[in-house]
Amino acid sequence: MRSGLVDFHCHLDLYPDHAAAVERCERDGVFTLTVTTTPKAWQQNHDLASATRHVRAALGLHPQLVAERAHEIGLWEELLPRTRYVGEVGLDASPRFYRSFETQKEIFARVLSLCTAAGNKIVTTHSVRATKAVLDMIEQYMPPTRGRVVLHWFTGTAAEAKRAVDLGCYFSVNADMLANEKRAAITKALPLDRVLTETDGPFTQTDSRPTTPSDVWIAVEGLARLHGMPQADISATIMRNLKSLLVEQG
Ligand code: MN
Repeated sequence: MRSGLVDFHCHLDLYPDHAAAVERCERDGVFTLTVTTTPKAWQQNHDLASATRHVRAALGLHPQLVAERAHEIGLWEELLPRTRYVGEVGLDASPRFYRSFETQKEIFARVLSLCTAAGNKIVTTHSVRATKAVLDMIEQYMPPTRGRVVLHWFTGTAAEAKRAVDLGCYFSVNADMLANEKRAAITKALPLDRVLTETDGPFTQTDSRPTTPSDVWIAVEGLARLHGMPQADISATIMRNLKSLLVEQG
């Protein structure tokens, strides 16, 4: 097992055995950000993560749940001072969730504003069919001196990628993004010092089973192939990027 891997967007509480999933990250030395889809899930994630060196828990309110759970923003706000990590948050304009899009925007504006007011937060962000709206809101509500957005599973255009870079964003890249030729070309154009890796497990599959954080080496291998670089160099770059993301802000 390779150590020193980074899975910056994973849902450890959605595996059948949450505690075992956390324990595996710790055993395999995978630096994992476990995101939550509702603030109600954060405390347990935080308790399990706090006992480890490699796992941290992010406080989220998933855009796909906003239709039913917008009222949980109160709990989200209450918990925000207790963590530096935020997510999964963002916008989803796909047909199934579009009816809540206006509410999603209100919630995401509030999330970004409160993170900006607090300072020094790291926000892992969902942007399905909504890259432009997400970037507009980052520009409006979160100056790069006040926090950092990591765009999870970025699906925007090359021009939007450039805009995101100018807004200070990082990108967490998974194996599925690299398996798609068009997505891979856009991923290749991202500045390598803004790239992290992720699995989005258990929502992705590896060998017909849910991906686990330890499978994130497949994304490292994909990035190595994409850039024609040794895997060890990509791995070291991602670890360095994680460190600069974590120290960058005052
Ligand atoms: Mn996710």
